[in-house]
Amino acid sequence: MSAEEQVAVVIGGASGIGWATAQLMAGRGETVVIADLDSDAADARAAALGATATAHQVDVTDGAGMRTLFDAVLDRHGAIGTVVDCAGISRPGTIADLSLDDWKATVDVCLTGAFLTVKEAARTVRDGGSVVLVASLNGRQPGVGMSAYCSAKAGVLMLTEVAAMELAPRVRVNAVNPGFVHTPLTYGATLVPGLVEEYLENTPLGRAGTPEDVAQTIGFLTSDAAGWMTGSAVDLNGGAHTMRYPDIVRRVSEMTTGS
Ligand code: NAP
Repeated sequence: MSAEEQVAVVIGGASGIGWATAQLMAGRGETVVIADLDSDAADARAAALGATATAHQVDVTDGAGMRTLFDAVLDRHGAIGTVVDCAGISRPGTIADLSLDDWKATVDVCLTGAFLTVKEAARTVRDGGSVVLVASLNGRQPGVGMSAYCSAKAGVLMLTEVAAMELAPRVRVNAVNPGFVHTPLTYGATLVPGLVEEYLENTPLGRAGTPEDVAQTIGFLTSDAAGWMTGSAVDLNGGAHTMRYPDIVRRVSEMTTGS
């Protein structure tokens, strides 16, 4: 690695918010490592970014696999400046109906994945580097049918604060709390009549977010301009945190029963 090379690892970097983040970091001259469950998508995204970008297949819930990923990046580049965890899934369902498997899968990817990200970053990120965890509006605003996701994301917010304390002053750790953003993750929600409209009615700025909106904030948090920020979570949701979350279960029920 040259003295000037800045290396950024983006987990979940092959899609949605992660892909927008990878493009932003490549655009500011960083060497981007796209790590994702979907190896074909990661390969394609890295190829699109150009010669310095690389792709790695990883399951963010797999401790050994995460260790292998970070060791491989260190071997190749010698130092890591930025780590962003954008891996996420959501399995909706009321607590009475949600299966234990769906609960565990959501908590595993969203919360255990964030823990493993910080764990690996703690030993591999260079002095002055930073970590960003993608939490959610749902980490602070409950939604009916969202118990696993909301609980996991609330956990990510507390993890961010603990991690900030433990990694300071060497490495900064912050989080972002996006509201509704159009990505493959939320495509299913757009098929539920009235759901997005209800969300927007409860969003003062009146629009959903774009992956680029979130990437811009991650870009700020990982820049020197945010050099005095650690343990912070930035809300970006058009003001939706001031209002209320849609009732997904009611909307789905209306869709299926027609009433
Ligand atoms: P997305 O487009 O589905 O991207 C998520 C990426 O994570 C996908 O490439 C996915 O791969 C990957 N992934 C899933 N499970 C993984 C695992 N076990 N190991 C490694 N990678 C894994 O979703 P997104 O909307 O950009 O979400 C990015 C983050 O933002 C998530 O943490 C999400 O919870 C959070 N967020 C999203 C919104 C929103 O409205 N979109 C709002 C708030 C927070 P596959 O495609 O192969 O599954």
